[in-house]
Amino acid sequence: MNIIQKENKYLMHTYKRNNLVVKKAKGSFIWDDKGKKYLDFFSGISVCNLGHCNESVIKSIKKQLDSYAHVSNLYYSSTQIELGEELVKRTFSAGKVFLANSGAEANECAIKLARKFGYNSGGRYEIISFENSFHGRTMATMAATGQMQFHEYLKPLQEKFVFAQYNNIDSVKRLINKKTVAVIIELVQGEGGLFTADKKFIKELRLLCDKNNLLLIFDEIQCGMGRSGKFYAFENYGIKPDIVTLAKSMANGLPLGAAIAGKKCAEAFTYGDHGSTFGGNPVSCAAALAALKIINVGFLKKVVDLSKYLNLRFEALGKKYLLIKEIRGMGLMMGIELGVPGKEIVSYCLKKGLIINCTHDTVLRFLPPLTITKKNIDLAIKILEEALKWQTSKK
Ligand code: PLP
Repeated sequence: MNIIQKENKYLMHTYKRNNLVVKKAKGSFIWDDKGKKYLDFFSGISVCNLGHCNESVIKSIKKQLDSYAHVSNLYYSSTQIELGEELVKRTFSAGKVFLANSGAEANECAIKLARKFGYNSGGRYEIISFENSFHGRTMATMAATGQMQFHEYLKPLQEKFVFAQYNNIDSVKRLINKKTVAVIIELVQGEGGLFTADKKFIKELRLLCDKNNLLLIFDEIQCGMGRSGKFYAFENYGIKPDIVTLAKSMANGLPLGAAIAGKKCAEAFTYGDHGSTFGGNPVSCAAALAALKIINVGFLKKVVDLSKYLNLRFEALGKKYLLIKEIRGMGLMMGIELGVPGKEIVSYCLKKGLIINCTHDTVLRFLPPLTITKKNIDLAIKILEEALKWQTSKK
């Protein structure tokens, strides 16, 4: 049995995998078991943002492993606490963080914290989410996800999430009642097709939350950690949330998640309200501390420069190929809406050595490492253009 047959036999069929058996990965490239090299414009779904096997991250991981890997959250780990300090300082003038293992867990924590805040302030529990959103695969985060196709077999769902229209403030207003406690939103809907939130809408949402004593939760699991060109995507909007969640690229490849809360609700949890055996694992925290050191002002400037370059290259393709209906996104989190399903283009690119992804059937998604070079952007565009030409000639 080869590795693909074994996967089929032993692993649950939850992932429709591409035809690539990974042998190694370094920087912006992945090699398969036959030695073929691929340019990675997906970064493991925005996880290896600093490139695969980033040297300072690995050094930090090894150093931590030489001391200890796990001690449980019933004792103090300086690595974990240092990370907490660094995260809070980057987010709020005063706040607190809960460290988890994944994005869904970070959002679960945010949801539970909002529930606790609501419990303490008049028994409120309803959370407003948005159509087309994605917040994770646990039961509560699925219930918070505004894509009904995911809900079908999970019913009855965790109550009480309601869905407003993205970028429509009136639709949010209509959903607020005495039981509403929070609003959760992605500033860029990653899984939902790379739609971005309007500045005016987010500013109005902040005001609406303040007026109604609601917590504003930003899910920055995919768009945070520098991907938007700022450390947090919300820095592009000039306002702050009450809770922000991070995960994916926090530890550049190791599992880690965080819910960071500002002073309005940071103290809502008391001992025993929440926990996790592995949450904030010291090895992952060491990786995250190394990653955070890299993401400084100079690094973010380069991300903005690269994103402008990528955009220009996409715009040029957009003018040439009628297949391209819209180009959208933020920073190095970009989508190209096609007039046809994107599956075949993704397969064509893979065969030619470029890894991209398709979401929502017709949206090509590009999440290159933030350390990508212009030369490698050119290489990706060359392959993508070949694919577009091929698809156009087929029609
Ligand atoms: N939130 C957003 C915006 C995401 O994009 C994802 C994953 O794609 C999640 C939450 C869930 O994260 P995880 O898969 O680490 O649980």
